Amino acid sequence: MSDYTNEIKKRRTFAIISHPDAGKTTLTEKFLLYGGAINTAGSVKGKQNSKHAVSDWMEIEKQRGISVTSSVLQFNYDGYCINILDTPGHQDFSEDTYRTLMAADSAVMVIDASKGVEAQTKKLFKVCLLRDIPIFTFINKMDREANDPFDLLDEIETELGIKTCPVNWPIGSGKEFKGVYDRNTKNITTFKAVSTGGQKEAQTTEISINDPTIDMIIGPDYHRNLHDEIELLDGASDPFDMEAVSHGKLSPVFFGSALTNFGVENFLKHFLDMTTSPLPRKSNIGEIDPIKEDFSAFVFKIQANMNKAHRDRIAFMRICSGKFEAGMEVIHVQGNKKMKLLQPQQLMAQERKIVEEAYAGDIIGVFDPGIFSIGDTLCTSNQKFEFEGIPTFAPEHFARIRQVDTMKRKQFTKGVLQIAQEGAIQIFQEFNTGMEEIIVGVVGVLQFDVLKFRLESEYGVEIRMESLPFEHIRWIMNKGLDLNSIKGITDMKKVKDMKGNPLLLFANPWSIRTLLERNEGLELAEFSRD
Ligand code: GDP
Repeated sequence: MSDYTNEIKKRRTFAIISHPDAGKTTLTEKFLLYGGAINTAGSVKGKQNSKHAVSDWMEIEKQRGISVTSSVLQFNYDGYCINILDTPGHQDFSEDTYRTLMAADSAVMVIDASKGVEAQTKKLFKVCLLRDIPIFTFINKMDREANDPFDLLDEIETELGIKTCPVNWPIGSGKEFKGVYDRNTKNITTFKAVSTGGQKEAQTTEISINDPTIDMIIGPDYHRNLHDEIELLDGASDPFDMEAVSHGKLSPVFFGSALTNFGVENFLKHFLDMTTSPLPRKSNIGEIDPIKEDFSAFVFKIQANMNKAHRDRIAFMRICSGKFEAGMEVIHVQGNKKMKLLQPQQLMAQERKIVEEAYAGDIIGVFDPGIFSIGDTLCTSNQKFEFEGIPTFAPEHFARIRQVDTMKRKQFTKGVLQIAQEGAIQIFQEFNTGMEEIIVGVVGVLQFDVLKFRLESEYGVEIRMESLPFEHIRWIMNKGLDLNSIKGITDMKKVKDMKGNPLLLFANPWSIRTLLERNEGLELAEFSRD
């Protein structure tokens, strides 16, 4: 295999999702420790830590203790080059999660063993299912009192609608956590928590389930119980089926404890084994092969002001094929322009570094002078094509916004437009008026807070927000239709998007039905045509 092919073959790119506090950060940190990318635990993100966190770019995240934006980390392990995409833990940012998942080839879902499937796990998981990618489950915090493992699996299956296949099986939990049984090797890895220099670590030993000393090690009751449970599992759980795993229909499940570093390396090994290197991606000229084709990438995230001192804006792109080399000329397809990607960079654990080269599967951030939009394609001049677009979620909350100080009109408009271009909000205008009043639509209400905060801190504009009672959005598909001719109903609003496309906002779904009944031939769609 050539070096070039090998570089791509060894790439694994995955997103990690969880309800806040399930242990996503801790697990990520342990992965990085294995990769030797960091030396001390606690250095990835410290909510209570004075060190600045890698994934907390915005002040608001620190204030709220949630991860609003996504970050990307790369590390090497066992001959693989792994890219982890962190996702926001809050459902209000599920659109951001979706975009991040577009850049990933698989997802890892972290679940707190004592809490099971939580509200935000459900929301984020739904987003995950839209992507049809392998989903791995890590049931965390087994060193704490946990729910019954069968109940946990049942909950995942019924609440999330995905079948499960446990790869290992826990023996006890909390103070009585004895370890896990590997259903493949039929070995037990025993668990004993120890404190090492302020860090909690697990001491482990691996023994066969048939080892005569097993009774002494885990106790006769746990031993008997384990045999019964294995029998039950072998009889009742879904058999391992790689095909089903690769389409996100069956989730391999692992039990462990990220904090004590128990089960993390085992998980990583299985995960790397079961996932593939970057697969071909769909475009308007067919599938783009990651190895055969020259460099291509698409923008999945735009992040402003990562570094406040520089007021910079970075477009994150997922490389889908070929090799990226600093200084190379690429085509920005949507902008129809040849260009060089400026200041290409990658995040390696704590630091951002300039990249000289990167391969299919990698994520790079480039300086964005304000030209990129979410979903844009970049490729080399040999062949021009567009990757499948990234759909926008229909906003469910709307508010009218105005600047408090009318002298700041320019900053206000600029700020709102830029934040909308990043995909953090969607903006609309009153039908028949200009930019005096802007209507903002968001998927989750926290996005309103982010908007307000960012306009104040980045653009120096204070705003007033008046929430509107609408929850449903429909674009009008009839070309050239005179909006004035629509026979309206009371709880509806006529607006237009930034491209001038007419659309309607409704307070409830039955208003949509009534309107359609009153206006024969009217065609409405949940998503815009462009
Ligand atoms: P995130 O919000 O999903 O990123 O969660 P964190 O990784 O920040 O973890 C939330 C809290 O749970 C922190 O106080 C962690 O120390 C703790 N935690 C994480 N993993 C474990 C675990 O395996 N066992 C125990 N006992 N605590 C854990």
